[in-house]
Amino acid sequence: MAKKEDYYSVLGVDRNAGQDELKRAYRKMAMKYHPDRNPGNPEAEEKFKTVNEAFEVLSDPQKRQIYDNYGAEGLNGAASGGFHGGFGGFEDIFSSVFGDMFGGSFGGAGAGSRRRPQRGNDLKEEISVTLEEAYDGIEKEVSYNRVDTCETCHGTGAQEGSGRKTCPTCKGSGVVQFSQGFFSMRQSCPDCGGQGSIVEKPCRDCHGTGRQRSKAKFTVKIPAGVREGVVLRVPNGGDIGTNDGGYGDLYIQTHVKKHKIFQRDGDDLLLEIPLTFPQAALGAAVKIQNIKKEEIKVIIPEGSQHGKIISVEGEGMPVLGKAGKKGDMRVIINLEVPKKLTSRQKKLIEELGQAFEEEGQKKTIFEKIFG
Ligand SMILES: [Zn+2]
Ligand SMILES: [Zn+2]
Repeated sequence: MAKKEDYYSVLGVDRNAGQDELKRAYRKMAMKYHPDRNPGNPEAEEKFKTVNEAFEVLSDPQKRQIYDNYGAEGLNGAASGGFHGGFGGFEDIFSSVFGDMFGGSFGGAGAGSRRRPQRGNDLKEEISVTLEEAYDGIEKEVSYNRVDTCETCHGTGAQEGSGRKTCPTCKGSGVVQFSQGFFSMRQSCPDCGGQGSIVEKPCRDCHGTGRQRSKAKFTVKIPAGVREGVVLRVPNGGDIGTNDGGYGDLYIQTHVKKHKIFQRDGDDLLLEIPLTFPQAALGAAVKIQNIKKEEIKVIIPEGSQHGKIISVEGEGMPVLGKAGKKGDMRVIINLEVPKKLTSRQKKLIEELGQAFEEEGQKKTIFEKIFG
């Protein structure tokens, strides 16, 4: 499988082909190159494998997207790995497209799942970042446990120096047969998993499975502007599959920690600032810091009410996926009434109150509200 032909041209479809068109094209090509119709023709056999490989990838929306973006390399053996084991690899696609056209007779399909490759499980992990890290974007290492190839036996499942022997249950056929009423049923041998052979002395670490839970580490690039709950995908970061089925993927959910000072609202940052009555009444220029701890001057207009919001453009969070674009900072005025006053302050406020009354603001609160 060294050279990679373009999967679309292998099936003779264009890049926008829908599922139905893919199936039709696949059916046509698979019929043409099927080994039953081309006995003793290695070229046709090779072509048949390629056609199956192309269809397996393009008919799976997830794999197709990876293929479109990164080519066959991007699939990292996840799709093509299954074909090393001979025809067993695409048995299930073949039968799902052809239905009963070939009945159970196709290529030993009657034997059930003989060495059918199965992709490993997808896994989920969580990662936490601070608001500052979410602002800049950051690379973080995730360590977790996953099922991977056993390091002791390198996946063979056998102890060192020990080989394989014919499975005693199925005597090497990979299939067991049993009768139920009038029917005689065949199914994949449960003892050897349909392989026809078992290891002589199973590896002590993985008990012969060839797979083992082990620690995995991946470095994940968290993009600037990442929001709470955003899920990042690490291709092939999941469990390893069976029979060269390849790895599943790892999905990482991002959690953005709460910040001491700023609250986040979408791409905007909210900041409450305390103001005194004279500042709000007379207007003021106050110095604050943005999330990068850079100083910003905010102009409070005179007569600002409690709860007034002043927007500072471009001082919010970066907009995810839009380089250079940022939200705003919304500065919210919190008018503070002092609980303790010095005698001088008390006197000045009393004077202010008298001045309000004398200068046409004589109405009592009762009159203000009820007329
Ligand atoms: Zn092992
Ligand atoms: Zn067996």
